[in-house]
Amino acid sequence: MSENPATRVVHAVCSHDCPDSCGVLVTVDTSTGRATRIQGDPAHPVTRGFLCGKVAKYLDRVYSPDRLLYPMRRKPGVPKGSLPQGRETEAFERITWDEALDEIALRLKSIADEYGPESILPYSYAGTIGQLGYGSMDRRFFHRLGGSQLDRTICSSAGGAALTSVYGVRLGIAPEDFVHAGLILAWGANIHGNNIHLWPFIEEARRQGARLVVIDPYKTRTAALADEHLVIHPGTDTALALGMMHVILRDGLEDRDYVERCVHGFAELKAHALDPQHAPEAIARVTGIDAATIERLARQYALAGRDGRRPAAIRLNYGIQRSENGGTAARAVAMLPLLTGGWQYVGGGLQLSTSGTFPFQSATLQMPELMQASPLGRLARTINMNRLGEALTEPDAGVGGPPVKALFVYNSNPAAVTPDQNEVLRGMRRDDLFTVVHEQFFTDTTDYADIVLPAPSFLETKDVQGAYGHHFVQISQSAISPLGEARNNVRLFGELGRRMGFPESCFDDREDELIDQALSTKDPRFQGITRERLEREGHIRIAMPENSRGEVLPFSTPEWFRTPSGRGELTPVPVFRAPVESRAHADEYPLEFLPRKADNYMNSTFANIPIHQRMEAKTAGILEMHASDAAPRGIANGDEVEVFNARGSVKLRAHVDGHVGAGVVAARLEWNKLSRGKANINALTSDRLTDLGGGATFYSTLVEVRKVLAS
Ligand code: SF4
Repeated sequence: MSENPATRVVHAVCSHDCPDSCGVLVTVDTSTGRATRIQGDPAHPVTRGFLCGKVAKYLDRVYSPDRLLYPMRRKPGVPKGSLPQGRETEAFERITWDEALDEIALRLKSIADEYGPESILPYSYAGTIGQLGYGSMDRRFFHRLGGSQLDRTICSSAGGAALTSVYGVRLGIAPEDFVHAGLILAWGANIHGNNIHLWPFIEEARRQGARLVVIDPYKTRTAALADEHLVIHPGTDTALALGMMHVILRDGLEDRDYVERCVHGFAELKAHALDPQHAPEAIARVTGIDAATIERLARQYALAGRDGRRPAAIRLNYGIQRSENGGTAARAVAMLPLLTGGWQYVGGGLQLSTSGTFPFQSATLQMPELMQASPLGRLARTINMNRLGEALTEPDAGVGGPPVKALFVYNSNPAAVTPDQNEVLRGMRRDDLFTVVHEQFFTDTTDYADIVLPAPSFLETKDVQGAYGHHFVQISQSAISPLGEARNNVRLFGELGRRMGFPESCFDDREDELIDQALSTKDPRFQGITRERLEREGHIRIAMPENSRGEVLPFSTPEWFRTPSGRGELTPVPVFRAPVESRAHADEYPLEFLPRKADNYMNSTFANIPIHQRMEAKTAGILEMHASDAAPRGIANGDEVEVFNARGSVKLRAHVDGHVGAGVVAARLEWNKLSRGKANINALTSDRLTDLGGGATFYSTLVEVRKVLAS
């Protein structure tokens, strides 16, 4: 309740794809219904009253004059493709929702009749991570339709598969517990850039003497603020973890009691790790981190938590698993606390994702059984989202079955974010592909749409949300009415289901019913958590098992593990293999390329908002290089350069700044239409998949760079 009767304060949750899932308070002018202020919820124990730079100015985004406010249809004869930003409306004409839904239903029915329903492909990811927005009525719709299933693997699937293989479940240290750590390894984790609410806990730990060590091939903001930055060659994290294991096991620093109680496969791993190829000197040659540092790091890590020392916490983020053998890398790092028994101490262990904390009833929301009622009468085929280019350009979509004739995009901007972009755009340009895009703004993807539908921001819709970086479930209330004619996923796909003639009453469910369904479990972690209670309290900490001292210590005892062996699983042992695209195999494209994300954008989201562009002005259109790579190519700071490989090329400006080591170049994601040459860094990335989980391999990319000579 607000003390000012002219305003009300509404609890919402930031639904952007970020581990922090902040509790948000939105002040609304009751006379106009307009949001006037957005702030972090001071009562939320992780948000602690502040928002990141991305969302602190969120009202600029919500009320941007560029918001899409009504449905549109491509004008006859206007070709698909990139239009200059600001001129996109020239390609479209305004239509009503009725017209849009009728046309979509008609086209989908006709495509399904002619080619089979699997010729219709949904494409979505985590543009919103609320349970309803991410996957509820949309999934029901495509399941009942019999559309192809999408393997949603672009971000975190290799790491998720890795955690599951080692622990059986995706749990981790609570962010609040990092204050108790004495050594914090940020491994491929730019905490200051994209997990900012963990930072105050780390700072508090450092005030009490903790050391922060960053392992990253790029000098991130976090690395610049750390006690030590270990510049590792891209894609060699498995080797470093094995080198640390070698030292730990060679010197007998494992926690034998813990290993005996909680770990399976120890003897096999020990024999493997002690192989001379994993000795620090050998690992130094692979990783670029000197042997003495590996020795010191391993010993400090192993001895943390012992003899009165504070424990070691690893914040592993998704960076390392976006390389060719990223699943193995994440497995190897995740095994370290199983050797040292770090999980037994408050503040010890590892956090990659806490998403497994929340027993949401996804199957109830998404109803995969509806596929049996579809014209297919069986499970539909699955297409990996990282292979969108292949799916749109191969006659059998690359997986067998019919060609993709309709693409329905929501919660994503595939024209900008999908690897092997030239293939993706070749497919999206097809005149015979019917494309619908549900969006808040004209993006690189709407440029290829036949129908554009307006989507709401998280302030304009109701949802329930967990987190992958903390342990609180929250409700997000609708703070303001949807702008213009924006409709959320629930209303869009529910109404479309009715237009398709689907008889099931599940298409009538609305937000409150779906939230109730998401929470409808007897799982003790959700015991007592109801929509009504969430509406009163905003956030509730998930009930996790406590030990006799009242501590929550995941994986401190065998009961926590969900692997087939019932223990922390060290087999199969992690084997280091250099990615095909890495310095170990470099030929005509000798430089390892890091396609980075901007600290002040969320992947491609926010890239069109002027205030965010100003925050990222220094990183716009630049290629970061090491002096030893620039000099032999005759490249000086500020020169225009072409970065290229067999898949494509992009134009950037060289920045010789010391943020990358020799042999590595880096540039950040931008919208194509905002890039010089109208192609972003995904023109260079490949659609090769990770060793586990079918993930994207953005960070296994080789390129060459040449100076663009003035004509
Ligand atoms: S993007 Fe992340 S840090 Fe920023 S407000 Fe949203 S949840 Fe919080």
